[in-house]
Amino acid sequence: MRVVIVGGGISGLAAAYRLCQSEPGRRGELEIHVFEASDHFGGVIQTRERDGFLMELGPDAFISAKPWGVELCRQIGMDQEFLETNPGRRQSFILSKNKLVPVPRGFYLMTPTKVSDVVATPLLSPAGKIRMACELFVPPKKTKGDESLASFVRRRFGRETLERIAQPMIAGIYTADPDELSLDATFPHFLEMEEKYGSVIRAFSKKKDAATSKASGPRYSLFLSLKDGMQSLPESLIQKMPEVHFHPSTPITAIEKGLPWKIWTQKGEKVSADVLCLALPACATARLLKSVSAPLTELLEEIPYENVATVNLAFHRKEVKHPLNGLGYVVPAIEKKKIVGCTFSNIKFPVRGKSQEDILLRAFVGGKDARPLLEQNDDQVIESVCQEIGQQLGISSDPFSIMLQRWPEAIPQYRVNHRLRVQKIFSELRHLPGFYLTGNGYTGIGIPDCIHHASQTVSQILDDLRAVQSIVY
Ligand SMILES: Cc1cc2nc3c(=O)[nH]c(=O)nc-3n(C[C@H](O)[C@H](O)[C@H](O)COP(=O)(O)OP(=O)(O)OC[C@H]3O[C@@H](n4cnc5c(N)ncnc54)[C@H](O)[C@@H]3O)c2cc1C
Repeated sequence: MRVVIVGGGISGLAAAYRLCQSEPGRRGELEIHVFEASDHFGGVIQTRERDGFLMELGPDAFISAKPWGVELCRQIGMDQEFLETNPGRRQSFILSKNKLVPVPRGFYLMTPTKVSDVVATPLLSPAGKIRMACELFVPPKKTKGDESLASFVRRRFGRETLERIAQPMIAGIYTADPDELSLDATFPHFLEMEEKYGSVIRAFSKKKDAATSKASGPRYSLFLSLKDGMQSLPESLIQKMPEVHFHPSTPITAIEKGLPWKIWTQKGEKVSADVLCLALPACATARLLKSVSAPLTELLEEIPYENVATVNLAFHRKEVKHPLNGLGYVVPAIEKKKIVGCTFSNIKFPVRGKSQEDILLRAFVGGKDARPLLEQNDDQVIESVCQEIGQQLGISSDPFSIMLQRWPEAIPQYRVNHRLRVQKIFSELRHLPGFYLTGNGYTGIGIPDCIHHASQTVSQILDDLRAVQSIVY
C-alpha cells in the first residue's frame, strides 16, 4: 500500500511519523513517500547559525498548553532539548505613543484576570479602563454564531482595549485584521466564557483559581523552544523514520483523481498513490486541485494567506539604551509603524546567544499594513526595520549581523465563519476516496495544532483502510 504525502513541513512530517508508528506501518505494510518542493524539510521551521547566534527564521517557540507539540517531542526523545523562556524576564511590552509599556500582569490577550491589574497601566485612558471594567456588566450576545474578534472586543471591552491591546497581541500570532478574524476559529473559549459566566473577566478569575488548585505534573513555561533551534524538530523526526522515502527538491505540479491517485513531479515523473495526503498551505492545495474538484478549489480559495518576513538583527548590548527587561514587544496598528513586533531573542531564550554582551533581536513584519513594505527590495526592508527598532529601543549603531527571511503565503487568515468553511471542505473529501488534507489552513496555525491535525488525518486514513480491508476480505 503506497501512501504519498505532498509537503514536508511539520504537518507532512508529523503525518508520516504517525503512519510509521501505526500498526500497518510497524508491520511494514505501508510504503510511505514524502514529496517536498524545496531542498529542505520542515517548511517554515528553519534555524541558521550565524555570528555565534542561533537565528530562527520562522517560528521561535511553540505553546506548551496545547499538548501535541510537547508529546511529539517526548515520543522522539527530545524532552531533554526543551528550552523554557527566561523566568526572570517573563513580561512583554506594547508600543504606546512611541514608548514601550509593560503588558499589565495577569493579562491574557485582551482580558485582565483581575480588574485591579489594569488600574495603573498607561496603555488605556481612564475612560478606556472604566469601559474595560464594565465588561463585568455587559450582557452576553443574544444571537448565536461566529463574529469577528474586533466586534467581540469592542462589544465587551470597548474600542480602546481593541486598538491598544487586543489588536497588537493578536496580530503577533495571526497577522490578521481583527475586523475579519473569526473568533470562533481562533479563540472559541472567549465565546464559551461569555455564554457560561456572562463575563470573560469573571470567567478568567474563576478559571485561574481552579487551575492553581489543580496544578500537577511537569509544568513548562507557556512557550517552549529547543536547545539546538526549532529546526532540530523536523531533523529529529526525519531521523526517526529511516523507512520513509523522502524526495526533496521535487515540487508536485499536477494531480489526477482516481484509485490509485496519480501525481506528477515538476520533472514530469508520474507516481501513483493508494492514499494521497496533501500537507500544504490551503492556497497551494487549491492550485493543485483545480482539475480535480471545482467546489473544493473554491472553498480552499476562501482561505487567503498573508506574506510575512522575519528580520534577525544582532547588536552590541552597550549600543542599546532600552534595559530589554522582557521578552519583546508588539506594535498596535494605530501607531502606524512598519513592524508587528520584536522579540529579544537571546533574552527570551538565554543559552541561544554567544554572550550577553551582544543582543539578538528579531522583528516580525506582516499583515495588510506591511504589504507595501514587503514589496520593496531586501535592503529597503532591512533599512526600514532597523530605523524603526532603533527608535523604539534607542539603538545608536548599525547591526553587526543581519538575516532577512521572507515567507510568501505563510499565514492563513481565518476569516469569520472559517469553521463552517472547513466543515464544508472536509465534507467535500467524501467524494474523493483515498484523498486527504492536512496543514495549517484548517483548525489551527501553531505547530502543536498542525501536529494534532496531522494525527487526526492519519487516524482517518487508518480507519478508512480498515474499512476497505474488511470489505475486501
Ligand atoms: C514567520 C513565522 C513565525 C511563526 N511563529 C510561530 C511560533 O512561534 N509558534 C508556532 O507554534 N507557530 C508559528 N508559526 C506558524 C507555524 O510555524 C506554521 O503554521 C507551521 O509550521 C506550518 O506547517 P505546515 O507543514 O502546515 O506548512 P509549511 O511549513 O508551509 O510546509 C508546507 C511545505 O509544503 C511545501 N510545498 C508547497 N507546495 C508544494 C508542492 N506543490 N509540492 C511539494 N511541496 C510543496 C513547501 O515547500 C513547504 O515545505 C509561524 C509561522 C511563520 C511563517
